[in-house]
Amino acid sequence: MIAENLKKVKSEIPDKVTLIAVSKTKPVEDILEAYNTGHRDFGENKVQEMVDKYERLPKDIQWHMIGHLQRNKVKYMAHFVHLIHGVDSFKLLREINKQAKKCDRVIDCLLQAKIAEEDSKFGLSFEEITQILNSDEFKALENIRVIGLMGMATFTDDEEQLKREFESLHSKYKYHQTEYRFDTLSMGMSGDYKLAIDHGSTMIRIGSSIFGARNYQK
Ligand SMILES: *Cc1c(COP(=O)(O)O)cnc(C)c1O
Repeated sequence: MIAENLKKVKSEIPDKVTLIAVSKTKPVEDILEAYNTGHRDFGENKVQEMVDKYERLPKDIQWHMIGHLQRNKVKYMAHFVHLIHGVDSFKLLREINKQAKKCDRVIDCLLQAKIAEEDSKFGLSFEEITQILNSDEFKALENIRVIGLMGMATFTDDEEQLKREFESLHSKYKYHQTEYRFDTLSMGMSGDYKLAIDHGSTMIRIGSSIFGARNYQK
């Protein structure tokens, strides 16, 4: 089932869009089923769960941290994480830089923008993003690389609202793209990825359409 779902989603998206298979709450057997089709990018939203899976699974998997991240947990994944999607403060960026330096590597990050009209979601305002990117302190961080933006739209069927949210994130992405050499705009989940791609997404995060419904919502 998982292999078929993955194939179906891949057939529906352009080659240039990167698909992250969101495996949170799912067992390693499910991840292996996707892995055995050749898929390598997986997303998790809890550090401990991602570390456990990293230790038990093939080492050529590219692990994406897509959840809200606490500073004190960065150290547990700094040696292997491929991309951190949800960076929502300068303090967090500073900590990622510190831990990356200890591991002698550069960690790629996305700044998470708050685009949902509902206000329960994490994320930076567009002004805060500009402030961070333009600050001298940011420019001096040598062990992180901000390669783009990430956003989560409101959970709604209202296409007009989704379009507005995706368009606003895409225009912010475009605004900074040249100066900061952005190449990644992470937006779109199972319910809204087609619309997200139509509005410029380069990376989608798909869980339930590949692995089936989760037992608990997170
Ligand atoms: C769980 C999650 C997803 C995937 O959600 P689905 O609706 O199952 O595709 C994508 N992005 C984030 C940040 C998530 O937490």
